[in-house]
Amino acid sequence: MLAAHGVSFAYDRGAPLVLDGVSLSIERGGIVGLIGPNGSGKTTMLRLLSGTLKPASGRVTLDGADVGALSRRHLARRIAVVPQDTHSAFDFTALEIVLMGRYPHLSAFELEGATDLSIARDALAATGTIGLEARPFATLSGGEKQRVVIASALAQASDVLLLDEPTASLDPGFQLEIAALLLRLNRERGVTMAVSTHDLNLAATLCSDLVLLKGGRAIAAGATRDVLTRENVRILYGVDADVADHPRAGHLIVVPLARVE
Ligand code: ADP
Repeated sequence: MLAAHGVSFAYDRGAPLVLDGVSLSIERGGIVGLIGPNGSGKTTMLRLLSGTLKPASGRVTLDGADVGALSRRHLARRIAVVPQDTHSAFDFTALEIVLMGRYPHLSAFELEGATDLSIARDALAATGTIGLEARPFATLSGGEKQRVVIASALAQASDVLLLDEPTASLDPGFQLEIAALLLRLNRERGVTMAVSTHDLNLAATLCSDLVLLKGGRAIAAGATRDVLTRENVRILYGVDADVADHPRAGHLIVVPLARVE
């Protein structure tokens, strides 16, 4: 559905490549995790997948069409990004934040109508935040903010969500809550997702497939069970880890034990 074909990218002409010949594919209804150390190119890959950045070489396609050839409005109706920093300096309410997701659906000078309001409320309900709609966004907790931002992305595009470190600044309770929310949106609404994360256990909970990035190259890609191995964790992070099935969690868990390089 959404795919990168041998994509390379540098932020400046002549600068070193941040991504070097990366291919990946996100099938409809899948959740693909991008994992790798800091600076390995995860955020850049999400920006290329959303069409915000253009590859220096290679292609990004949505249902076979080059995203570079699609209009920004068309893309924004299909693909929504949940960025890393969800702070808002402005005094918008939660409902207003979610309604902003409707902008790509409005024509110039058109105001949100009843349909937009109903889609926004549906997105708030789907993320368990309907009770917060009148609250100023700035007064919400980290977990509540993240759920409202996910609601805004859902109101914008229910096809594909690209989430950049969705649990990075949250405590363990909220991390579990966001993971459960994303799984529910995937299972019940068929939302396709790409998720960048440092949290290997979150990746094991959520993702059907993983792409392992190191230094801008994909060192492995495939089913989570096949690529989340002790050897790959060592190559990615220079860490010796136990990777084992956790019977109560029902998925693989990764326990880092020692730095090995
Ligand atoms: P990750 O998300 O895996 O931490 P990024 O995609 O953010 O990796 O960064 C990959 C590389 O690109 C890093 O070396 C980073 O410094 C560089 N980079 C990221 N954003 C920019 C930018 N706007 N301008 C120049 N270099 C950037």
